[in-house]
Amino acid sequence: ARKKYIYLCTNALLLKRKIDLFKPTKFLTFSVHMDGLEAEHDAAVCRDGTYNTAVEAIKEAVKRGFRVTTNTTLFEGTNPERVRLFFDEMMKLGVEGMMLSPGYSYQKAPDQEHFLGRDRTKKLFHQILANRKKSWKFNLSPNFLEFLQGNVDYECTPWGNPTYNIFGWQKPCYLLQEGYVPTFKELIEDTEWDKYGHKSGNEKCRDCMVHCGYEPSSVDDTFGSVAGFARTVKSAIAYGT
Ligand code: SF4
Repeated sequence: ARKKYIYLCTNALLLKRKIDLFKPTKFLTFSVHMDGLEAEHDAAVCRDGTYNTAVEAIKEAVKRGFRVTTNTTLFEGTNPERVRLFFDEMMKLGVEGMMLSPGYSYQKAPDQEHFLGRDRTKKLFHQILANRKKSWKFNLSPNFLEFLQGNVDYECTPWGNPTYNIFGWQKPCYLLQEGYVPTFKELIEDTEWDKYGHKSGNEKCRDCMVHCGYEPSSVDDTFGSVAGFARTVKSAIAYGT
């Protein structure tokens, strides 16, 4: 009744069983976490059968008239051709749009094996997206897709996707856990925003190209500059997205 749009993130393992608890409405979208095709997805979550369970749940939700999107995080070692096949499969299932992001990169993170630096991120996304099919629908701004391929550069907007949970408002973004404040006003006014973003010199931000910080910058460019808007129109004409 509040007319708020909710994207309910889920791995979809229980979705088919619990789907009777929900009613289809334009205000509710199931955002299903999918790490790729069956082999990649099951390996990423360390459990065989999860891809097929999620696919069955997506089919059921789409059949019942629910809005369904996917969200996918890509890491080092991703095979671009397999990702393209994965997009085809998701479109066949009838999902409304696909969200993509590189995984969070931090050069001092312990898991360097799966770490994607900026150059490798751009190369990977260029291989996936450079001649993308018109049939693929993304739940992303065209400018963010250009950013991921290295065709345009943005600075992070860390306050663009604020995180609120039972502990409060998370500083500064959902990737970096630097404490919580009780109010949105404190988050905005007391956080030293200059210390964050790719160009800030903060080593935790240096290689980051993650959706939560850079999609807001992409959207801002779409509506805040002639060049950003023109890039969006060009993309819509070329790719239908
Ligand atoms: S660059 Fe932005 S989104 Fe990435 S870790 Fe830093 S503040 Fe968070």
